[in-house]
Amino acid sequence: MIDRRPRRFPELVPMVRPTVEADAEMELAVKEILQSGMLTNGRYVREFEEAASAYLGVDHAVAVSNCTTGLMLVFRCLELTGDVVVPSFTFMASGHALRWAGHGIRFADSDPRTWTLDPEAVAPLLPGAAAVLAVHTFGVPCDADPLQESCDSRGIPLVFDSAHGFGSRYPDGSMVGTKGVAEVFSLSPTKTLSTGEGGLITTNDAALAAKLRMAREYGNPGDYDSRFAGLNGRMTEVSGFMGVHALNRFSHWIGIRRSLAERYRSRLDGLPGLEFQTIPEGAATSYKDLGIRVDATRFGMTRDELAERLAQENVSTRKYFSPALHQQTAYRDVPAVAELPVTEELASSMITLPLYSHMPAGVVDEICDLIREISATARKAGGRAS
Ligand SMILES: *Cc1c(COP(=O)(O)O)cnc(C)c1O
Repeated sequence: MIDRRPRRFPELVPMVRPTVEADAEMELAVKEILQSGMLTNGRYVREFEEAASAYLGVDHAVAVSNCTTGLMLVFRCLELTGDVVVPSFTFMASGHALRWAGHGIRFADSDPRTWTLDPEAVAPLLPGAAAVLAVHTFGVPCDADPLQESCDSRGIPLVFDSAHGFGSRYPDGSMVGTKGVAEVFSLSPTKTLSTGEGGLITTNDAALAAKLRMAREYGNPGDYDSRFAGLNGRMTEVSGFMGVHALNRFSHWIGIRRSLAERYRSRLDGLPGLEFQTIPEGAATSYKDLGIRVDATRFGMTRDELAERLAQENVSTRKYFSPALHQQTAYRDVPAVAELPVTEELASSMITLPLYSHMPAGVVDEICDLIREISATARKAGGRAS
């Protein structure tokens, strides 16, 4: 039988939408770029790198074609051998970049409250490891200081997969993008600042920045005697301009994004069985994603059932990150060097709700009302409430 009951939202509410202001300035610049004959790695890419490094407060910013490539280039340029410690609760590209750079992988568990890499889970995995790759999960800065201390004590580099972290701040007030040997942002359409496709490597190490600039250009310093096997990791000029343009208005949009996320949090506050990500005292998240953890017993329904109910009403959600990396086919051969109970728990209970910077606040309100109704009926029907 076909269900003809009207859906709460007549049209699909997307999970994410890039916020791109296609104004007259953008139109003019794109036209000028197309007519200039300079389509890649030129003036606008340079301008974007300068604007981004100034915004973040870091010495060097190297624009690349995407974050995955950026991570591959960083690890290639560091010239390390051996295993890299990385959280399993992350997007697949964190692991893929390590594999492409020739590294073995040691999966570490995450913190049950912040959902970022747990420094205490990392410590026992460090002997013999080549580096640590930490992730600012959903925009919440990971616990960088203890990770940096452990890496320093072993003399190994700490790198950040900062794909989610453009606009985030560490508890000491510095921007995400300023720590470790390098941080690598994604500027793809689902991230907080988008250049269509794109990535940005930030570092305070001048020699590493110079090497990365060569690496994104096949390893060719300009004399066609390649010094090592680099990649084509260049950013296009249209993307470079999009970056400059988006950065001009970034503070405005990230402010709105935060207020939308806080609106979700306050309107869903107190619902039994729903838990939000803990933001460390003094830190700020970019809210790349608004994740909630569903405790099936207390909520009265599983994460999958909630996703299904929301989909029935035209609300898109994602089950980030399920399956976790160590549960994916591509990583079946990675030796299990640690138990990952928190990761497995998060992977089975996390759902991310629609959030993008130009999302109408009224839609947030309606989604929250809907979740409250679903919660009420689930608890009545299931009798599973504690
Ligand atoms: C999106 C994402 C990436 C990959 O970024 P691309 O720019 O698409 O290559 C890497 N790591 C994490 C955690 C991501 O979410």
